[in-house]
Amino acid sequence: MEFNELVKRVVSGEIKLHQVEKYTDKRTATEVRRKALEEKLGINLEHVGHYSIDPERVIGKNIENMIGVVQIPMGVAGPLKINGEYARGEFYIPLATTEGALVASVNRGCSALTEAGGVKTTIIDDKMTRAPLLKCPDARKAREVAEWVKANLDYLQEKAVSKVTKHGKLREVRPYIVGNNLYLRFEFETGDAMGMNMVTIASEEIMKVIEEHFPDVKYLALSGNLCVDKKPNAMNFINGRGKTVIAEAIIPREIVEKKLKTTPELIAEVNYRKNLVGSAQAGSYGFNAHFGNIVGAIFLATGQDEAQITEGSHGITLAEVTPEGDLYISITMPSLEIGTVGGGTRVPTQREALSIMGVAGGGNPPGTNARKFAEIVAGAVLAGELSLLAAIAAKHLAKAHAELGR
Ligand code: NAP
Repeated sequence: MEFNELVKRVVSGEIKLHQVEKYTDKRTATEVRRKALEEKLGINLEHVGHYSIDPERVIGKNIENMIGVVQIPMGVAGPLKINGEYARGEFYIPLATTEGALVASVNRGCSALTEAGGVKTTIIDDKMTRAPLLKCPDARKAREVAEWVKANLDYLQEKAVSKVTKHGKLREVRPYIVGNNLYLRFEFETGDAMGMNMVTIASEEIMKVIEEHFPDVKYLALSGNLCVDKKPNAMNFINGRGKTVIAEAIIPREIVEKKLKTTPELIAEVNYRKNLVGSAQAGSYGFNAHFGNIVGAIFLATGQDEAQITEGSHGITLAEVTPEGDLYISITMPSLEIGTVGGGTRVPTQREALSIMGVAGGGNPPGTNARKFAEIVAGAVLAGELSLLAAIAAKHLAKAHAELGR
């Protein structure tokens, strides 16, 4: 069908937004929808219509009803020296944001950390979880099923998981029983993928096997909300999800004073009274100054699932004065859900952003690239925490935002 005719029919509602691909290719369908929206709403979407990514590559994988793109300015902070187990060397960090002063602040943190010798990063856990819900006749049956599942992980891997994924490996299950409800929180290794699709598909296969073994048990929902995905929660804070990662550094007093214009004592005190006491009073899961800022900007730049910024904002910042009078600072992120393959990481702009850190695509062996990426994110988060805490301690925060954010 001819372009203008298609636009007319979309405007009239004769052709629905999601039906346009039936009549033309994906690129033209994108243009038709945008034009129809412009006509119907009397608006101009000129900038939304400027892009270089190919709709053929993203429609049906990353987006539906595509009308164009949104552009977010991307800056870069660094270099940041990281002494990790996967990330070793100096890295530049891509940050997509419209918050003035954020990149400058992370950059200042990177500079102080690098001058101090770098950030030490440690991954203490790495898994993706899915927790399907089974309705059982009673709690005893729920317990029986849970025990059977715990004893048959290898069998479930072979019969179910390995049928649908090469990289996904079932490694653990943590059952929770509430009345006659059984929640099976499965933990998987997912290689370099964040893994949500992988573990969702694998969990469904596992449910089929369980239903075969226990005909009186009803598989009710693929997610029983104990996974926990995209919601603030204590479960991930305590048990972890995605990468559980820690970044630490010791900043000599001289660098704190010269570069950050404050003292280790003041940073430690602000951290204690703000991030620990203040957050406790607020009932927050973010015992930190602004993990979400750095996690959010990196997630948007690199094609991570932006809703998981929620759990990425969880975590604890610690700051202490060492016996030598220097500053020890650390961040602990219990639930950093990221990947370097799959999902939005295959969109060309996002893939380019990953390549800035040398983490685009799969690692050798699988999983090492995503871990390297996690260490870099943790390092950047530490840089952000250090810089913001120092700005607050030195009472520079409002001034920096007045200069860079307005
Ligand atoms: P995915 O693109 O669905 O899966 C990753 C793919 O990459 C798999 O086909 C895997 O093959 C392959 N792969 C190749 N090399 C790999 C390597 N080195 N490591 C790991 N996998 C490798 O991505 P995903 O991470 O599972 O899911 C991410 C997407 O899930 C995001 O778009 C997110 O928005 C979405 N999401 C889904 C749900 C849901 O409930 N379904 C919930 C939240 C988010 P094999 O599987 O054969 O190993």
